[in-house]
Amino acid sequence: MVQYCRFQTDDGPQYGEVAVRAGELWMERVIAAPPEDWSVIRLRKDLPPQPLSELTLLAPVTPSKIVCVGRNYRDHATELGNEVPKEPLLFLKAPSAILAPEGTIRIPALSKRVDFEGELGVVIGRHCSRLGPEEDVRPYIRGYVIVNDVTARDLQKSDGQWTRAKGFDTFCPVGPIVMGGLDVEAGVPVTTRLNGIVKQHGSTKDFIFGIAHLLRYISAAMTLFPGDLIPTGTPAGVGPMYPGDVVEVEIDGLGVLRNPVAAE
Ligand code: ZN
Repeated sequence: MVQYCRFQTDDGPQYGEVAVRAGELWMERVIAAPPEDWSVIRLRKDLPPQPLSELTLLAPVTPSKIVCVGRNYRDHATELGNEVPKEPLLFLKAPSAILAPEGTIRIPALSKRVDFEGELGVVIGRHCSRLGPEEDVRPYIRGYVIVNDVTARDLQKSDGQWTRAKGFDTFCPVGPIVMGGLDVEAGVPVTTRLNGIVKQHGSTKDFIFGIAHLLRYISAAMTLFPGDLIPTGTPAGVGPMYPGDVVEVEIDGLGVLRNPVAAE
């Protein structure tokens, strides 16, 4: 699939092919929805090209599940006082937590410490089960997307497992576009800014487990479906957000995922 966004219209959600015009992301033309998304009722092929900044963007993924990877950058594992893991540390995030670009992250009254975690997400493109040890994983990847794995850090510790801490509504901002062709092994910079100040600046070349390893490991346990989302872990520099803040995650080629923060 080409690089694309998803946006709202009077006729409901639409998908649009994305191109860069003079350094800005544009929706060039409406395209068919991926097979997992049944929300598109009528294709609006009549819509003209528009800059993404003038569209009401939606999250560009509708996953059946979100399989996250914890502590996948050495420096982040050690900043929280954890050992560098010997095997990928997996957890699930609720699909109901998905939030559009520019959507408001709501700080729940139940938590006193809610952190940003800027991450590269893998979007699955085809049914993926029990990948072989030598099998090429690239055909299973539709593309990449920016994710903010928002986390109630206090509940993550006190609950003993992470379901609530990672699963509140609005705790999974995703977007603005899905795009293939990133050379993740060579190193893609992942930058998070809070109120314009850089808080995280890592590179995917510092992954403890690469994407092929992760897809083999996950698919050995559970079948991945088209549209499923795999956030690949966060670099060092995680920190809290408070009402009134604005958080941005930027990955070269994938744009900027920007979200304001407010109280519940
Ligand atoms: Zn994370």
